[in-house]
Amino acid sequence: MDYQFERLPQLSDQRKTLPRKGLYSKRTRVITDRAWHHSLTKKDLAGSTAAGFARYHVESLGWPGVGYTFVIEPRNVVNTSYGRRARIVYCHDIDRRTYHVGNSNQFALGICVAGDYRTEELDDSTIMSIAELQQALVDDGIGQVDKSHHEFPGYSWKQCCRFDYQNVINTTNVSTPPKSEVPSTYMIQEGDTYWSIAHKESAAGVTVDDLIRANPDVDPTQLRVGQVINFNVSNRSKSPTKGNKKNGFVEVLSSTLNRRKESSFTAAITGQLTRGMIVKVYAKQGQMYHIGSLDWCSANAPYVKYHQAIHYRRLLRVVSPLLRGGDVRYVQGRLKVLGFDPGSIDGIYGNRTRSAVTRYQQTERIQIDGSVGEQTWGQLFD
Ligand SMILES: [Zn+2]
Repeated sequence: MDYQFERLPQLSDQRKTLPRKGLYSKRTRVITDRAWHHSLTKKDLAGSTAAGFARYHVESLGWPGVGYTFVIEPRNVVNTSYGRRARIVYCHDIDRRTYHVGNSNQFALGICVAGDYRTEELDDSTIMSIAELQQALVDDGIGQVDKSHHEFPGYSWKQCCRFDYQNVINTTNVSTPPKSEVPSTYMIQEGDTYWSIAHKESAAGVTVDDLIRANPDVDPTQLRVGQVINFNVSNRSKSPTKGNKKNGFVEVLSSTLNRRKESSFTAAITGQLTRGMIVKVYAKQGQMYHIGSLDWCSANAPYVKYHQAIHYRRLLRVVSPLLRGGDVRYVQGRLKVLGFDPGSIDGIYGNRTRSAVTRYQQTERIQIDGSVGEQTWGQLFD
């Protein structure tokens, strides 16, 4: 089985090494719920680890093994190329019915975040691991809903989980960026693309990104003559990218984008990627522009502001065999929106894509070579 969560760099597979006494039986039902727990032990304690919980569950409770499929360990921080992450311990095969929510064990996947969140606070590396694990599980189709331990039948009394897991994994209560006070409009004319509009003199520096943000319901690849779009130059936000490449938003996005390669870019294009991903973390950090991007992405922009996130940019050119990947798809989506049709957005860097890149380079008066190198990447997305 090849799961997305197995690609998380902070994942530690301890299925074979954790203390155990036998094996949990196989589930007889498909997993529908992801059950979130906290350990009620202080996160810095030496025993606040999967191994510590396993010893307790096996030796004191007599269970076959630790009661959770995953344990997130705030005390074991992993330095990944995306930033610091709490280690995620993979304790059992997904199909094992571990003990954690009584009668619901058959269909609930147990995830325990070490710590006592009656009094402690989640730290950022733990939040990121929660968010990334949750998103990976969603992508893997493991479970359909997230629930706190105390939301399961018979556990309403439980002080578990006491951290606001919804706050971490949901975007539902994320505030959206303020709408423009005075939106002006623009009527689409023959031959217009967002790119051409943005380059008209009257646009006074409005960017393609501004137009997309101002028109969340408009598909830039399907503009019609006479269509009226918002053109609120006054309210456009400052680019948050400059000098800010190392913030958490960028890291989490790049980690996800790189990790998931193809599928993430597809997700990005359909606006799905952000769900549960960028999460409330950023609101917590008080960085509204992140949320703005999130909102914008989820509004079905055919390409989104993920260029902030890409920190690995390979050279894209026509070679044999043809280059494939989410980054190619991403460039194709961008070209299409800008009015340089690359053919189908298939993630394959072939001749039609090269030709679109060439036309773009000619128009932008940058080096014309039909490949996407540093300069073209920058021109397309920065
Ligand atoms: Zn619990």
